[in-house]
Amino acid sequence: MLLSTSNSRHLIGQLVLLGDSGVGKSCIVLRFVRGQFDPTSKVTVGASFLSQTIALQDSTTVKFEIWDTAGQERYAALAPLYYRGAAVAVVVYDITSPDSFAKAQYWVKELQKHGSPDIIMALVGNKADLHEKREVSVQDGIECAEKNGMFFIETSAKTADNINQLFEEIAKRLPRPTTS
Ligand code: GDP
Repeated sequence: MLLSTSNSRHLIGQLVLLGDSGVGKSCIVLRFVRGQFDPTSKVTVGASFLSQTIALQDSTTVKFEIWDTAGQERYAALAPLYYRGAAVAVVVYDITSPDSFAKAQYWVKELQKHGSPDIIMALVGNKADLHEKREVSVQDGIECAEKNGMFFIETSAKTADNINQLFEEIAKRLPRPTTS
């Protein structure tokens, strides 16, 4: 949804996170919204939806309304309830887990089949701080993203690396209302 006033622009980005359980979706949201890394508060986060507003340099503000699928993503039949109608889908994998990377590619296909045709998709390789345990190369992430017209970034919810950048890059890609 897009709202605009004469002086400034306010955008709302409805965003859903998808990916294997344990890749760090809840931690990414917590880091972005509360600025903290707290793996223990997963249930609280999963039970509700969170929102966070950011300001861009061009005086646009973007309010993200974030749905963390928190486990339900394992039940394929329920997943479309989360991403149908979402403006943004963030597909997360863990750079130490090739299985989670394969699962991310599954979600990308699902989104292409059932998501809104103009959905903005980001591919996120999380846990980038665990570089000594890396099993998915940066190049593999880039290639997958390019093939599917996605924005790609590696993040660490633990160290906060690239978390704000992820949401800023998404915000920049949200369509602006046309002025007449
Ligand atoms: P979800 O099931 O995808 O929501 O995953 P969680 O957010 O619950 O994270 C699963 C576990 O991964 C947590 O207990 C964290 O300890 C760990 N984790 C999440 N993000 C990171 C990260 O960026 N780096 C590291 N080292 N661990 C992380």
